[in-house]
Amino acid sequence: MNYRISQRAASLTPSLTLEIDAKAKRMKAEGQDLVGFGAGEPDFDTPQHIKDAAAAALAAGFTKYTPAAGIPELRKAIAEKHRRENGLEYEPEQIIVSCGGKHACYNVILATCQEGDEVLIPSPYWVSYPEMVKLAGATPVFLPTTDRTEFKVTPEQLRAAITPRTRLFILNSPSNPTGTVYTPEEVRALGDVCVEKGVLIMSDEIYEHLLYDGAVHRSVASFSRAHYEHTIIVHGFAKAWSMTGWRLGWTAAPEPIARAIDAIQSHSTSNPTSFAQKGGVAALTGPMEHLKTWLAEFDRRRRYAWERLNRIPGLSCVNARGAFYLFPNISGTGLKSVEFCKRLLETEKVAAVPGVAFGADDYIRISYATSMANLEKGLDRIERFCRSLVG
Ligand SMILES: *Cc1c(COP(=O)(O)O)cnc(C)c1O
Repeated sequence: MNYRISQRAASLTPSLTLEIDAKAKRMKAEGQDLVGFGAGEPDFDTPQHIKDAAAAALAAGFTKYTPAAGIPELRKAIAEKHRRENGLEYEPEQIIVSCGGKHACYNVILATCQEGDEVLIPSPYWVSYPEMVKLAGATPVFLPTTDRTEFKVTPEQLRAAITPRTRLFILNSPSNPTGTVYTPEEVRALGDVCVEKGVLIMSDEIYEHLLYDGAVHRSVASFSRAHYEHTIIVHGFAKAWSMTGWRLGWTAAPEPIARAIDAIQSHSTSNPTSFAQKGGVAALTGPMEHLKTWLAEFDRRRRYAWERLNRIPGLSCVNARGAFYLFPNISGTGLKSVEFCKRLLETEKVAAVPGVAFGADDYIRISYATSMANLEKGLDRIERFCRSLVG
C-alpha cells in the first residue's frame, strides 16, 4: 500500500514543544526525578465556579450540538468582555467561539490567506504560526529579532518587509515564547504601518491578563476605526482561567471575516464542546479573584528565575513582562539549543524547550508555570550543567 501523504501534511514540522513535553511526562511517569520547564499551561486548577457551571450543564443534559459559532450567551459574554476591558465594540455575530485559541488562529489564517500570499511573523514566534500558514498554502516570512531589542519588531522593519503579496501580520503580545510585552505606543506604531499598507493584523491576545512590572496591554484594534477594521483578535480561556484542556477560544473580527470563519468551522469541527461553552460563560461573567493570586505567584517566580538565570555562567536573560516564560540566551555556553536541551534533559533531568522550535537557536524557553520548589531545584541543576560547560 502506498500511503502517500499530502504535500500539505508532509510540509509540516512536528510540534517540538509538545514532543519534549511528552518525553518529560513519560520520564516523570517512569518515576524519574524530573524537573519540567517545558509547560505551556498554568500549573493552577481551573477555578471551581467554572467547573461547577460545566458540570451543571452536563447534568442538565446540555449535551447536544450548538450553533457552530458557539452559543449566543457565550458570544454575547465575549463581546461584553471586549467592551468592558478593551473598549472595543463587537456585535455577537462578529465573535466566533472555537476549539481553543490555536484553532481560532488556524481559522483566521485559513479564512484570510491562500497560495501566493505572504504572512509576516516576528521571530521568535509561537511554534504553530508558520505551520498554519503553510497549511493554508501561503508563505511565512519572518521578521527576526533578538534579546538586544527585547525581541521587538520595529515599525521600520515591518514596513520594509511588506510586499504587494503581504496579506497578514501576526502580532502576539504578551508573547510566547519570549514574554515580551509591546507598549501601547509600540503597538499603535505597528498598527499604523499595517493600516497604511492595507495589511490585516492577527492579534493573538491570549496572554492579555498575564502582566508584571506595571506593563500595560492595549489591543491594536483599539486605536482607531481603521485599526479596528484591520484587526482580527484571537483569544481564549486557556491561560487566564487555566482551561487548556477544555479547548475553548475565540476570534473577534470584522463581520465578513467572522462569517468566513463560521463557514469553515461549520464544515470542519462544528461547535466547541457544548458544556465547555457553559464553563466559558461562567469564566467571563464570574469573579476574577483567582487571577490576583496567580499573578502574585507567577511574578514571584519570574523575579526569582530571572535573577538566577542572569547569574549562571554562559546565560543571559532579558526581563519579560508578560505570559509565564523566560527566554535566556545560551550562546555563552557554546551550544545550540537542541544540543543544550538534550544534554540538559539527559544529564540533569531538566526539561526546557529549545529555542530553534521558535526560530531562535541561541535561546531556550523556560516556563515558570511550575512550583517555586521545582524552580529552585531546576535552576540549581541548570547552573551545575552550565558550569560544566563553561568551567
Ligand atoms: C496557549 C496559546 C494559544 C492558545 O492555546 P489553546 O490551548 O489552543 O487555547 C494561542 N496562542 C499562543 C501564543 C499561546 O501560547
